[in-house]
Amino acid sequence: MEHIDHIIAGKAYRAPRNPTAAVFNPASGEQVAVVSLGGADEVHLAVANAHDAGKAWAATPPAKRANVMFAMRELMQRHRDDIARAISREHGKTHDDALGEVARALEVVEFASGIAHHLKGSFSREVANSVDVYAERAPLGVVAGITPFNFPAMVPLWMIPMALACGNSFVLKPSERDPSVTTLIHDLFAEAGLPAGVFNIVHGGKEAVDALLDHPLVKAVSFVGSTPIARYIYTRGTAAGKRVQALGGAKNHMVILPDADLDQAADALLGAGFGSAGERCMAVSVAVPVGEETADQLIARLAPRVASLKIGPATDSDADMGPLITAAHRDKVVGYIDAGEAEGAKVVVDGRGFRLQGYEQGFWVGGTLLDRVEPHMQVYREEIFGPVLSVVRAPDYATAAALIDGHEYANGTAIFTRDGDAARDFAARIEVGMVGVNVPIPVPVGYHSFGGWKSSIFGAHGIYGPEAVHFYTRLKTVTSRWPTGIRAGAEFKFPSLNG
Ligand code: NAD
Repeated sequence: MEHIDHIIAGKAYRAPRNPTAAVFNPASGEQVAVVSLGGADEVHLAVANAHDAGKAWAATPPAKRANVMFAMRELMQRHRDDIARAISREHGKTHDDALGEVARALEVVEFASGIAHHLKGSFSREVANSVDVYAERAPLGVVAGITPFNFPAMVPLWMIPMALACGNSFVLKPSERDPSVTTLIHDLFAEAGLPAGVFNIVHGGKEAVDALLDHPLVKAVSFVGSTPIARYIYTRGTAAGKRVQALGGAKNHMVILPDADLDQAADALLGAGFGSAGERCMAVSVAVPVGEETADQLIARLAPRVASLKIGPATDSDADMGPLITAAHRDKVVGYIDAGEAEGAKVVVDGRGFRLQGYEQGFWVGGTLLDRVEPHMQVYREEIFGPVLSVVRAPDYATAAALIDGHEYANGTAIFTRDGDAARDFAARIEVGMVGVNVPIPVPVGYHSFGGWKSSIFGAHGIYGPEAVHFYTRLKTVTSRWPTGIRAGAEFKFPSLNG
């Protein structure tokens, strides 16, 4: 059985007394590996190594740090199929979907390749006689990342390239459910020229996370995962004096106005609702058609296509979606469908009984379409994170918008319409961090930044892009006087230019 080890100072590290967790292939239900669950000792070792290796790295010219990112880009492109296979083996998503994940991660590596430009700072000559000011952004030191299962390569790579390019060293605590692709990411960084110890990996669960949150040498923590844990990470990390960005869960609505192209809207809902079996924080899990006729027509288009979604393992190149991550998560998703039905939602397409020949032990749920979902239902209020699309019918646009603004989560949303006025109003007013207009999954490209609002994020900064430059650096402003020969005598009043 493969054993997934921590990586500290560039080498695999196994602590003999660490407990382990089983890692599964979700399509077959078979255990494919065990992963070490590290604790405070491994975190201390990793942070100490990151701290030591980080000094020389921080002093490395930004353009040289960028060279590592350029090389990493080439390596990731060359190995994209290997990375995708490593993702799919433990996550279960289709190979195509995993390639998409790699492509989006590459955008961040590309942005990080331009880091010298983003760290340029600013300069003001002669703010007073012979006095100049310059401002620069300095690295923080050791920073940590704690990541979820659903994008086991992309989410770590939302963080690592930016943190490293800014001159920090990094300790990653990946999801314990699909951890092994991070070993490959580490090895590619090493091949790209990253010095050993600048990027370390400690596997584990709560114990490792708590040790990172409490460690005095960890200066910042980036977290992506569910909202209850995001809230916890933010509270504990900031109490320990750290800078924290913690991105949480989602319940993304797509409004379909009566004038929308309904075929285009149905295509969008299928991909955004069921791609990756709904295990995306930007999945559309709620469709809000405006008007009964729009709703009926939309459901008429969706139902047969949801019922005939092609579900299979990652090795099936025709599959639209794969299994869920664990047996426990499958049972949770089925429980939500049960609860929705019990509360009065109409189960138009029922994925609960889905079985796949040859993969009877896999963690499957078929595509599920629920109509007449109401805002008070559990299936509406909570994040399901599975292949379940709920339809909430709204009588008018104002009700649809109010529904979205009333929800706890505010990660992404979309509107489908041909009406420019309505689209513009929606984009301007809706209280959600990422908005799509006729675009169902508006994940910003790598040179913008990603982040929701409300309970979908804790902390002031979005992730990757320009926001990451601010998150992973701190401002230093230098005021200097040259020549030094000017003698003004001791001044006791607060210095200012005007008298
Ligand atoms: P999770 O919150 O269960 O786990 C995330 C990380 O936190 C993992 O590394 C895990 O080991 C750790 N963790 C879990 N329980 C912990 C605890 N009690 N104390 C400390 N650490 C703990 O999330 P998940 O199930 O891996 O991922 C799915 C969730 O992530 C969904 O809610 C999804 O919406 C969210 N997500 C959000 C975004 C975003 O950008 N907003 C992106 C991807 C996923």
